[in-house]
Amino acid sequence: MRKACRQCRILVESGACPICKNSDFGASWNGRVIFISASKSSIAKKLSIAADGDYALKVR
Ligand SMILES: [Zn+2]
Repeated sequence: MRKACRQCRILVESGACPICKNSDFGASWNGRVIFISASKSSIAKKLSIAADGDYALKVR
């Protein structure tokens, strides 16, 4: 099962977060959004997401 970074909410299979290099993950997350042009997306801006990828909306 994929885990979500608590800091940037990106979903990862294993290892460290590709964005913040953190390894603080939450296994319990809700919602999912994929950004393919995060820099142009107003939703990404709202969620303070700068890089493209697969994100969870909420991480516990
Ligand atoms: Zn992160």
